[in-house]
Amino acid sequence: MLTQTLSALAFATSGQNLRGSIEVSALHRLHDQLHLHDQSHDHVGSVAYSITGSCIDGKPNLNVSVAGTLSLRCERCLEPFAYTIAISSNLAPVQDALPDLMDEDDDVESIPAEENIDVIAFIEEEILLSLPISPRHETNICSAVAGAAVEREQRLAGLGQLSALIKKSK
Ligand SMILES: [Zn+2]
Repeated sequence: MLTQTLSALAFATSGQNLRGSIEVSALHRLHDQLHLHDQSHDHVGSVAYSITGSCIDGKPNLNVSVAGTLSLRCERCLEPFAYTIAISSNLAPVQDALPDLMDEDDDVESIPAEENIDVIAFIEEEILLSLPISPRHETNICSAVAGAAVEREQRLAGLGQLSALIKKSK
């Protein structure tokens, strides 16, 4: 895959647009969190991205959207689950950004106005930031939770039988 770079400030001020797709297997920093069945990584698919530059009221902005589905590993049962990525972030390239001036607006995150942003690393960073801290199935479909629920039912059923026996013996 060819390395594509963009200049954050110029991209925004000239209203450029870039879209494409990235193979998930190329996003190496994501691999720890993915459920990979084998080493081939062929099946993990790709994510579609779009970066749109704009300049509104003299404020440069990059809208980054990413869509796709990742197979994450449920931290509870360690089985895969499909996680849908739907990112739409507004990033403001700021020159000589001072830390205390960053993030003054919750809807727009400031990023350094770098010249050569690696597009793939940039998209990967956005995906990493969007992932859940504790990736898990919904409790009603997680096999670990289902297993625990069955155990609890069995225990309750056992208690029921026990109290029935106690009643009988009285
Ligand atoms: Zn699970």
